[in-house]
Amino acid sequence: MKEHSATAAPSPETAFPVSQPFDFRKHGHAMVDWIADYLENLERLPVKPDVAPGWVRAQLPPSPPEHGEPWAAIVADVDRIIVPGIVHWQHPGFLAYFPANAGGPSVLGELLSAGLGVQGMLWSTSPACTELETHVLDWLAEMLGLPHAFLSSSAGGGVIQDTASSATLCALVAARERATGFAGTAAGLQGPGPTLVAYASTEAHSSIEKDVRIAGLGAGNLRLVPVLADRSLDPAALRAMMDEDSAAGRVPFFVVAAVGTTGTHAVDPVPAIADACAAHGAWLHVDAAHLGIAALCPEFRGIHAGIDRADSYCTNPHKWMLVNFDCDAFWVRDRATLVRALSVLPEYLRNHATESGAVIDYRDWQVPLGRRFRALKLWFTIRHHGTEGLRALVRHHVSLAARLRHRIAADPALELTCPTPWSLVCFRARAGDDATDAILCRVNQSGRAFLSHTRVDGRLVARVSVGAPTVAERHVDALWDLIRGAR
Ligand SMILES: *Cc1c(COP(=O)(O)O)cnc(C)c1O
Repeated sequence: MKEHSATAAPSPETAFPVSQPFDFRKHGHAMVDWIADYLENLERLPVKPDVAPGWVRAQLPPSPPEHGEPWAAIVADVDRIIVPGIVHWQHPGFLAYFPANAGGPSVLGELLSAGLGVQGMLWSTSPACTELETHVLDWLAEMLGLPHAFLSSSAGGGVIQDTASSATLCALVAARERATGFAGTAAGLQGPGPTLVAYASTEAHSSIEKDVRIAGLGAGNLRLVPVLADRSLDPAALRAMMDEDSAAGRVPFFVVAAVGTTGTHAVDPVPAIADACAAHGAWLHVDAAHLGIAALCPEFRGIHAGIDRADSYCTNPHKWMLVNFDCDAFWVRDRATLVRALSVLPEYLRNHATESGAVIDYRDWQVPLGRRFRALKLWFTIRHHGTEGLRALVRHHVSLAARLRHRIAADPALELTCPTPWSLVCFRARAGDDATDAILCRVNQSGRAFLSHTRVDGRLVARVSVGAPTVAERHVDALWDLIRGAR
């Protein structure tokens, strides 16, 4: 890159008549400063906004501007309207849902991706976009200790999806095509043929039912398998349901095992589920959207027992690996099946590289055609921190969760619900739902921390999901003070 000079080439915007030139360099530097200031001062803001429905829209003019506005006015409105109207997911007191931690290297990778403005649908539409993605997903598979079958050097491979929801949808469609001899694409859902049945536990993520609906299989053909006391899928019940469906002429074709359920981080028994899948020829997809990242640390790799028998697997660097949303990492054992299920090649996309068979065209691995250069943010993050740095992040969060867990366990008024050894702490008040709700209200009204909830066996449970980039002992201790004061 050359040094900037006052006589630099005009930016592309000046190629057409504009009301005012855009000084990208100046405003860009200022925006990076804005973000850095925001992150530095975040702790002073309440984690959650205090705005009534409609407040944000009431601040905005009803119609778009006819004439361009000064950039300073636009940025001033970010401070005035946007900041007061957002939940601060990067705040150290953000302990709700799941983390969506966004590190500096990732944010700059996202910026670079936007600046390059590349479409990576085919290898030939930007070779670096495809090859970096393949390479970095091989790296990530190695970092997580995933089976060799998922590496691009075998028959499998990885791809970045927007979300785990989309990854599961792609796995589901590939499984449907495999189960029907690739007839589904031809006959569609109107065609004759046996009923296909999918399975996941009652604790599985809502995206699975949504994916089943989108794929046109009918929500009634998703069986919700009961769970054991620790909220993990009961493999004997799964086996019985699959046998029953099969005996009735239906085809058990797809099972989702959760490694870390959304509610409580229960880990389904993947080896026993793999046995049931093998008996029926069903596709096994492992959804490890949040917890899978823990496998960066060898001491937590036990969560992945049995995944060497999975047909597909996904985890979200955008939840717990400092990569900003969106970045779901999805691997398949047999890329040919996935590509055959999703590939449609119109004339205008034909090219020599594709026809040579020597390249990956990632449009065939996902629902949309177009795709962004998301591998940059993953690459920047992995290179900046190294595997060691990312392991330290996971261990830090796990130890903070343990700190809180010990205090809750020692308090006679509280009880841990389905305790796990990772970064999620679920607890309730022994006195009942009203007492648990009082704790949640007190914490969430404090502005200093934000928790979410779930229900276990019908009872209200508070969830503390540790994972913000700057969360430290003092934040967990402050949370404990709030909990103790409310119980
Ligand atoms: C968060 C989560 C999802 C959904 O993730 P998206 O990437 O937002 O689709 C799915 N499954 C599990 C287990 C999750 O924790």
